[in-house]
Amino acid sequence: MSALQPISGKDHAAGGETYDVVVVGAGFAGMYMLHKLRGLGLTVRVYEQGDGVGGTWYWNRYPGARCDVESMQYSYSFSDELQQEWDWSERYAPQPEILKYANHVADRFKLRPDIALNTRIDQATFDETANTWRVTTSDGNTVTAKYVVLATGCLSNARMPDIKGLSGFKGKVYHTGHWPHEPVEFTGLRVAVIGTGSSGIQSVPVIAEQASHLTVFQRTANFSIPAHNAPLSQEEREAFRAKYPEVRRFAREETRNGIYTEMPDRGALDDGDNERRTRYESRWAYGGLTFMAVYNDLALNKAANDTASDFVREKIAEIVKDPQTAKLLQPNNHPIGTKRICVDTDYFATFNRPNVTLVDIRSNPIEEILPNAVRTAARDYEVDALVLATGFDAMTGSVAKIDIRGRNGQTLNQKWAEGPKTYLGVMSAGFPNLFIITGPGSPSVLSNMMVSIEQHVDWITDCIAHMRDRGFEAMEAEKQAEESWVAHVNEVAHTTLYPQANSWYMGANIPGKPQIFMPYIGGVGVYRQICNNVAAKGYEGFVMTAVEQPQKIAAS
Ligand SMILES: Cc1cc2nc3c(=O)[nH]c(=O)nc-3n(C[C@H](O)[C@H](O)[C@H](O)COP(=O)(O)OP(=O)(O)OC[C@H]3O[C@@H](n4cnc5c(N)ncnc54)[C@H](O)[C@@H]3O)c2cc1C
Repeated sequence: MSALQPISGKDHAAGGETYDVVVVGAGFAGMYMLHKLRGLGLTVRVYEQGDGVGGTWYWNRYPGARCDVESMQYSYSFSDELQQEWDWSERYAPQPEILKYANHVADRFKLRPDIALNTRIDQATFDETANTWRVTTSDGNTVTAKYVVLATGCLSNARMPDIKGLSGFKGKVYHTGHWPHEPVEFTGLRVAVIGTGSSGIQSVPVIAEQASHLTVFQRTANFSIPAHNAPLSQEEREAFRAKYPEVRRFAREETRNGIYTEMPDRGALDDGDNERRTRYESRWAYGGLTFMAVYNDLALNKAANDTASDFVREKIAEIVKDPQTAKLLQPNNHPIGTKRICVDTDYFATFNRPNVTLVDIRSNPIEEILPNAVRTAARDYEVDALVLATGFDAMTGSVAKIDIRGRNGQTLNQKWAEGPKTYLGVMSAGFPNLFIITGPGSPSVLSNMMVSIEQHVDWITDCIAHMRDRGFEAMEAEKQAEESWVAHVNEVAHTTLYPQANSWYMGANIPGKPQIFMPYIGGVGVYRQICNNVAAKGYEGFVMTAVEQPQKIAAS
């Protein structure tokens, strides 16, 4: 086969179609990947297990679901026409609007003809002789592709808790990450929400307004900052759009988390008590994730972090009237920001409602689900419906579900048994021509994901163009470069407070999952620079192979 002439058609040996690239997943990552690869004139097939595009926003339809990075920034930047013409209605758009946006993008860029919906990828096997991947779909077809791009999402594998008796529950059971498409009515019902991470914190206030009684089962109290969500006026949108070039550049190049905001110029202990409180009050009043940007050392210095953690704990005590409940809601087992910080609308105030009860399942664990109740070590709570807000097998969960076999028949799951190993978060040694978008070892979930998705897609596209232009057939991360990167990711994580929390960043929410810090904490600006440097040095740390001779680009 020639080096990446656009190819498409029947591969008779495999019994299926042949493409230049197979992309797995049609969320924001998969859709943009398709758009960019088409720009290279390549044949691309996207496979999506859901029956619509949008990924996260297709699956997470729970009450109160919305983004927590402001919509003017949680949106694609690759098309100025798109960002100028799309009107976000609120500061933080609700899930239906973000899903509408994803569908608009699919139509506007005519993506649908190359996306196969309702089709899961179950297996991908590298053929070392042909330098191609054989990809098997849930309907039993096998297609062949030179490249496979995993756009499978970091938070797409919903975690079902293993609770005795769950399957015998007589009422309806919902998982926030697999919410039904038809409206769910809780009016007049006694509802249990299990889990108080981001999805629980967003859904609790909305469900409380409908349910006759809501019982919230909390294992870990989490820090949450008020969103202060509000409609966006035309003037606000226009003002933001006018500065888009600088907003996007700044978010990509200058920040750690991909969010345009005022950057801190000092540490928390550089200010006296009064000045510090004024600053925290002002960020609290502004709302949202940028609370953590008030000082530059909150993720680094425990004493500095304590000032912010204490401030939020005090706010919780001010809002929640019952002191016992307030105490339970005050996070006390991790520094603020070391677990994903939540953004809420009236979460803490919801516990002042007479129809809401908080149950601490750290001291009284759930023992069993009965047909009509949740049984804890202390007592039974009768309920009519269960909402599982128990999160995801994050970052690796959806990749692990695919049987991926690279060189010498090694599976990716075997290779990652001790924790994911990648070079730059985009490739794993021994798995040539297999790219991962926002994979472990990249900033991914620590950032505005739109920024990270676009950066990876652009980088992968450039890389494939580079290979095509130079006649390379296969590209693979070098083992040594990968080991150095894994060590670097780990080292940077341990200069911060992050590893102090039992978070899903560490895999700690999944029993038996190896606990290593998965995302790269160095920040999106630094990371982008590293990736650009690697590319500028002819993809340093990767081995590219032409049909005739291998070319090694050693990492310095
Ligand atoms: C409730 C919620 C709110 C969030 N809010 C924000 C926010 O405000 N800001 C932010 O930056 N990030 C947020 N995130 C993270 C969010 O996941 C990303 O922002 C982004 O949507 C990820 O896009 P993606 O395309 O990489 O992955 P996804 O949107 O997860 O899409 C991956 C797709 O791949 C499909 N797939 C997986 N495996 C297979 C397979 N084997 N075969 C076929 N298809 C497969 C899945 O069905 C899914 O549709 C949020 C996540 C959740 C769950």
